[in-house]
Amino acid sequence: MAPKIQKSDAEWRQQLSPEAYHVTREGGTERPFSHEGFPKGPGHYVCVGCGAQLFDGDQKFESHCGWPSFSKAGGAIDEHSDTTHGMRRTEVRCHDCDAHLGHVFPDGPPPTGLRYCINGVALRFEPETDAGA
Ligand SMILES: [Zn+2]
Repeated sequence: MAPKIQKSDAEWRQQLSPEAYHVTREGGTERPFSHEGFPKGPGHYVCVGCGAQLFDGDQKFESHCGWPSFSKAGGAIDEHSDTTHGMRRTEVRCHDCDAHLGHVFPDGPPPTGLRYCINGVALRFEPETDAGA
C-alpha cells in the first residue's frame, strides 16, 4: 500500500537536513551516540518527515547501544523484513510517509521484550504541555 504522504526527492531534500534525508529516505544509519541529548521529560517522539506520533517518551529506555531505544511503538509503524548487510533484521518505517526509522530487535526489556533501535535524526521530541499554558 502506498504511503499516505508522498513527496518528490527534491521536496524531501528541501524539508530535511542532509543527515535526516540520508537516514529517512535512503535508509541510512546515523553515527552512534549522535543523538543522546533528547530531553527526559514527558512527551512524544514524532516523525521528522511528517510529524506523525511514533513513540511515547515513557517507552524510551537506556540501552547503551548508541541510538534512542524504545520498548514499544506508540504510533503507526510498519515493519519490513530487511536482509541487507548479510543479516536478517526487521526494519521499522513511519506508516504515513514511509520514512526509514531504524530496526526492532527481540532483546528488549519486559513486558514487550522488544527494542526499537531508532535513529535520533528521524525523530523530533515534542514535550507534553499543559493545555492552555
Ligand atoms: Zn512520517
